[in-house]
Amino acid sequence: MSKYWSDLVKQLEPYTPGEQPQVSDITKLNTNENPFGPSPSVIKAIRAQLTDDLHLYPPPESDQLKTTIADYFALQPSQIFLGNGSDEVLAHVFNGLLRKDLPLLFPDITYSFYPVFCALYDIQFEKIPLTNDLCIDVNDYNRGNGGIIFPNPNAPTGDLLTIDAIESLLQSSAESVVVIDEAYIDFGGVSAASLINKYPNVLVVQTMSKSRSLAGMRIGYAMGSEALIEGLDRVKNSFNSYPLGHLQIAAGIAAFEDDAYFRKICEQVIENRTLLTDSLLQRGFRVLPSGGNFVFATHEERSAVEIFQHLKAENVLVRHFQQPRIEQFLRITVGTEEEIQRVIVALDRLI
Ligand SMILES: *Cc1c(COP(=O)(O)O)cnc(C)c1O
Repeated sequence: MSKYWSDLVKQLEPYTPGEQPQVSDITKLNTNENPFGPSPSVIKAIRAQLTDDLHLYPPPESDQLKTTIADYFALQPSQIFLGNGSDEVLAHVFNGLLRKDLPLLFPDITYSFYPVFCALYDIQFEKIPLTNDLCIDVNDYNRGNGGIIFPNPNAPTGDLLTIDAIESLLQSSAESVVVIDEAYIDFGGVSAASLINKYPNVLVVQTMSKSRSLAGMRIGYAMGSEALIEGLDRVKNSFNSYPLGHLQIAAGIAAFEDDAYFRKICEQVIENRTLLTDSLLQRGFRVLPSGGNFVFATHEERSAVEIFQHLKAENVLVRHFQQPRIEQFLRITVGTEEEIQRVIVALDRLI
């Protein structure tokens, strides 16, 4: 605490990301990164950008990447918004589209950055409890609201909603913006991007950090009606004209262009998710069905903290959330087969 801080800063409780240890022999399954590297063509594209042109500012609207993403989803470039990671995109969404007189609705168990943005931008919110089996029931959101946001699949539970469920929500909350945070949609879900031309109130947010193996590049985007995107542009251009540098733009375009590689690694992650789930089930865990590149699991006899600490001592990092309803669960990122093997070997030394 410092007297030099503003009153706002004094009362902030910032988001704590999962640890990024700087040692190499750690099996890191705590932040849902992709276990596979980016497509080789991404590396090539980044190298090609390492020229004297770096003395120039990048194009402020990242037009070429915008067009690439628009073509991929059969949308117009004017329906795409880009940011420095989807966390930055979300920050502008909270500020520009979700700061209303009525409370914003999101699940009681969800991405823990949402309440942090609410505190930063002074947004009132109401947490809607997940069902007893930790799922989102869209009927629970059928009430007056200043907006709705949740990840699909939800994090950290992995629960995946159908496109029909999302569509019914868009119809029942036609007066407010409904944000679907699709950080994990590519691991077996169906994107709500196909609903954008039918519903002007839906905003779909995606990231290149998970399914496209580019967490280190910081590229996120939102897709929605021109009116929503124009609102976001107004916020962005009052904040930072150039959120994406030359290297990010080149990497993003190359990643979308190598669709075969993208599909191959998504399928591999889905296969490994089954392997990890089955291995945990065999060892007395209950594992929630997951649509993400992670599983959410609880052990019948051992406490989550005990398992977490044991794994950490064995150099395996997973994520534990000290939070009501889920304190007995661990979130484990789906890694390579070798990484899964290491988790299982470490678990077998405890269980
Ligand atoms: C990882 C994640 C993000 C943030 O992704 P970045 O693009 O890396 O900032 C946003 N929402 C959810 C639900 C996530 O899990």
